[in-house]
Amino acid sequence: MRAVRVTKAGGPEVLEVAEVDTPAPGPGEVLVEVAAAGVNYIDTYQRQGIYPMETPYVPGLEGTGRVTALGADVTGVAVGDRIAWAETLGSYAEQVAVPWAKAVPVPDGVGDDAAVGALLQGMTAHVLVNDSFPLSGGETVLVHAAAGGVGLLLTQLASAKGARVIATTSSAEKAELARGAGAAEVIDYTRVDDLAAAVRELTDGAGVHAAYDAVGATTFDASLASLRKRGMLVLYGAASGPVPPVDPQRLNAAGSVYLTRPKLFDFVDTTESLRDKAAAVYAEVAAGRLDVRIGHRYPLTEARTAHEDLQGRRTTGKLLILPS
Ligand code: NDP
Repeated sequence: MRAVRVTKAGGPEVLEVAEVDTPAPGPGEVLVEVAAAGVNYIDTYQRQGIYPMETPYVPGLEGTGRVTALGADVTGVAVGDRIAWAETLGSYAEQVAVPWAKAVPVPDGVGDDAAVGALLQGMTAHVLVNDSFPLSGGETVLVHAAAGGVGLLLTQLASAKGARVIATTSSAEKAELARGAGAAEVIDYTRVDDLAAAVRELTDGAGVHAAYDAVGATTFDASLASLRKRGMLVLYGAASGPVPPVDPQRLNAAGSVYLTRPKLFDFVDTTESLRDKAAAVYAEVAAGRLDVRIGHRYPLTEARTAHEDLQGRRTTGKLLILPS
């Protein structure tokens, strides 16, 4: 079968299409014909070696497709069923063997685009507003990179919970998408000198209850300075680079604020919690309350372009790789 293969860590050019052996589903695994693989920022960290990987490997943690064969000891799923997964390396490929315990069934009301587009990023957004800093309505929150994959979903979920979202984006087109997702205010953070001052101005000087920040290096200081007393900085990624070590005294000086660094898979760490979370997100999609924007679809041969576009800040919403 055809797959993207990485033989050494590096730039987008290390993503090469190759003929590789079709995986055989081992015990507990199902073989899937991939309808769409999801591109996630973590794929770029893995490709660069920021998260060290054993080579060679087929990248991509996320996808959706139909089951074509069952390994030993698999129950509760049949050949032909539609499933999705978010934690199985090897997804930028025509076929992948997925541990059934790490997969979720896709309901009929959810198409392939949303099955992938709302899974890793949708569950992350759901965790951020329900678990990391639970919103109950009436809060003001800062959402960085609000036109991105997670950003658009997070903005919709936070707004739906009754929070006032102050979004940041880097262009007028992205600002428009953030507004469409429910942002009350949008700041172009590439054009303001003092982002925290701009946020304070929009909150009568009080600051925000929470800042959801996955941009990292370039926004961390402003996020911290944007918080109101006892607010929370939810640092969940590092698209602009990792945040240097933080002196805890800074949390005191900022107003007894909290700092957390969540990762999705600590919140969906059992089959039951994974399927519950996915079902909650898919229910929002099926009910028409959560819109999944597919920013671009790339053939397998253009995986490197997908990574270049994502890291080059040229994308909005979810990026898909279509193996055929
Ligand atoms: P996005 O679609 O959000 O793309 C990243 C966006 O970050 C860009 O479009 C850009 O938006 C913004 N950005 C700001 N500065 C930079 C920079 N220097 N280089 C590149 N991008 C920059 O990606 P994802 O939705 O896939 O992921 C968003 C973040 O969420 C990532 O940091 C990812 O690691 C994190 N994440 C964390 C998870 C967790 O479990 N903790 C799970 C899933 C994602 P703009 O142009 O508007 O600035």
